[in-house]
Amino acid sequence: MSLGKAMIHARKQKSIAKAAGYAAGDYTAIQPNHMLQMPVLVLNASYEPINICGARRALVLVLKGVARTEEEHGLTLHAQRNNIAMPSVIRLLEYRRIPYQTRALSRKNILLRDRNTCQYCGEVLPPGDLTLDHVIPRSRGGNSTWENLVACCHSCNRQKGNRLLNELDDMVLMREPRPFSLHTSRQIMRMLGRSDDRWRKYLFY
Ligand SMILES: [Zn+2]
Repeated sequence: MSLGKAMIHARKQKSIAKAAGYAAGDYTAIQPNHMLQMPVLVLNASYEPINICGARRALVLVLKGVARTEEEHGLTLHAQRNNIAMPSVIRLLEYRRIPYQTRALSRKNILLRDRNTCQYCGEVLPPGDLTLDHVIPRSRGGNSTWENLVACCHSCNRQKGNRLLNELDDMVLMREPRPFSLHTSRQIMRMLGRSDDRWRKYLFY
């Protein structure tokens, strides 16, 4: 077993129990896989924040020479023969035009847009406890679109059934569902970056 592998192995053993709820600042307990999933802020060449990606993808972009690390996380990934400084913020080296709406319509993105909040009762739940509700039910001709899909808890979903909103007295949408725009993305980036000084200076300007 190489040194790198041995270190990863030791670290894994030590951290499995802690993996679910490591204390803030206790970074020695983060296992490599978890480290590679940590969110990284992506800036355009102009320093405009445009996305959040996982650390694994960010490292690939840096290693390919597509982006450079602007801020390091302070963590080091011990890979085979290399120690890799984990990025917290990366910047693309070439300016990219970002189309107004770049997000694919997916369950994950609908939940992200609705911030894991049931759009009827307002409860915030883990993704696994949420479902997608067709505001106009499919059986009544509703389509699967940004404007017709919302995050919904199972109990509200059952309560609503196949009815239209105007047939229900006690259920209203918290807000009108819209496509996932860059504006929405930026709000989410700000929310995620609120506590991180390395992100703050790029997100609040
Ligand atoms: Zn609900």
